[in-house]
Amino acid sequence: MTTTVRVRYAPSPTGEPHVGNIRTALFNWLYARHTGGAFILRIEDTDQQRIVEGALEAIYDSLDWLGLAWDEGPRVGGPYGPYIQSERKAMGVYQEQADQLVREGHAYYCYCTQEELEQMRKEQQRRKEPPRYNRRCRTLSAAERLRREGMPKVVRFKTPEEGDPIRVNDIIRGDVAFAPATLDDFVLLKSDGFPTYHLACVVDDHAMHISHVLRAEEWLPSTPRHLLLYKALAWDPPLFGHMPMIFGPDRAKLSKRHGATSTLEYRDQGFLPEAMTNFLALLGWSLDDKTEIIPREDMVRHFSLERVGKSPAIFDHAKLEWMNGVYLRQLPQDELANSLSEALHSHIRKTHQQVLVTPSPDYLRNVAPLVQERLKTLNPQDVWDLCSFFLVELPEYGEGLTPKGLAPEVTRTALQATLVILQALDSFDAATMEAALRPLAERLQLKTGQLFGVIRLAVTGRTAAPPLFDTLSVVGRERVLARLAGAITKLSDGKRP
Ligand code: GLU
Repeated sequence: MTTTVRVRYAPSPTGEPHVGNIRTALFNWLYARHTGGAFILRIEDTDQQRIVEGALEAIYDSLDWLGLAWDEGPRVGGPYGPYIQSERKAMGVYQEQADQLVREGHAYYCYCTQEELEQMRKEQQRRKEPPRYNRRCRTLSAAERLRREGMPKVVRFKTPEEGDPIRVNDIIRGDVAFAPATLDDFVLLKSDGFPTYHLACVVDDHAMHISHVLRAEEWLPSTPRHLLLYKALAWDPPLFGHMPMIFGPDRAKLSKRHGATSTLEYRDQGFLPEAMTNFLALLGWSLDDKTEIIPREDMVRHFSLERVGKSPAIFDHAKLEWMNGVYLRQLPQDELANSLSEALHSHIRKTHQQVLVTPSPDYLRNVAPLVQERLKTLNPQDVWDLCSFFLVELPEYGEGLTPKGLAPEVTRTALQATLVILQALDSFDAATMEAALRPLAERLQLKTGQLFGVIRLAVTGRTAAPPLFDTLSVVGRERVLARLAGAITKLSDGKRP
């Protein structure tokens, strides 16, 4: 058996990779990086009917986005290629093993048609028996076989009819036993010459010298079949570890119902890859049962299969948002300014918003520290909602101009006094403005918070916004004064906003 760790992520291109599926990729990647082993990408596309156009690209994009580079696989090659099963099929690798298994009496040809199998299933249902192949073709005589020569056929594995249970000694789940009778004479090669998952997976894991098969728990029932195949082919099996299921907060299997499930959707919603990988790593693994924020180098340093749990992991969207916020706050200002710029440009392009100030990274370098604290994602809409008043001529006054508990006249007087004071200032920096305006509150017999609330609403259109004076400074003298004057006019018009 190989001693160096070689693990694989073996997705089927049947759609955009689900976050649960990418968790499998991440755990394999972490294990490979932790042990200094190899992380292999293999594309399992033998179920031709289920292939979805664009899914292959989505797999590559998801891994690229999360920074899970593979050491061997499509695009990068490697010593055991090709790494796409349809290409391997074209080379005859699966046919060869299927033929050998038939020759050696471990498998047989089955000529039963779809209709016959359907009929069989119905009868079993009526008799309340579990559905399984009745092994009719297993005992065909030579003459019967000859008569069927040229008919469409599949290759089935001869599963032992009885005997000792097949034991999977799972690294994560411990010893799991399966009665041979429950395994059925499963198909190895389909009538179109394509291998089934079982055959292709075993042949390739062996050919690619995989040391550990780490996959989701849903594949556990396949593992006894795979072990039987290894035995029949006289190959040493790899070690197996099945990762826990992922549930939504309602303890049902994670599905669309719980929100986005495609990995790339999270990218498009403005989540950071660092936050996503940290979050996914904690779906089944933990460092010490309490640490939540774990930088990637630390995950690599500490990852171990011993700390992968058996019980289902809960995908909690609110926690992901929180974690994303933590990572966003750690971003260097320049990087954040670039990302904000990208998000804002994308929003403006999509919605044809009119802006006065182009959201250039340069301008946003001043905005970034002001919004960083409140940012949850880099989703264009969220970023726009948070930053729009920095860019437009006039903010939207959806929340009105008069803070709760103040009369419009008081608000107007406060704004007029503010305007006079700000107009007279030589410098528009935050400290100067604050020093000039604080005494005003007392003069007007307002609480400082009330006065600042009035100014905040007039300049930003929001009751909650970044630190007021820094905001005024970034919005700039000209626009601040114009907004104050505009607000005063509105309030004077007698329009009760
Ligand atoms: N092709 C399977 C999937 O789509 C891989 C299962 C395995 O890892 O063996 O998840």
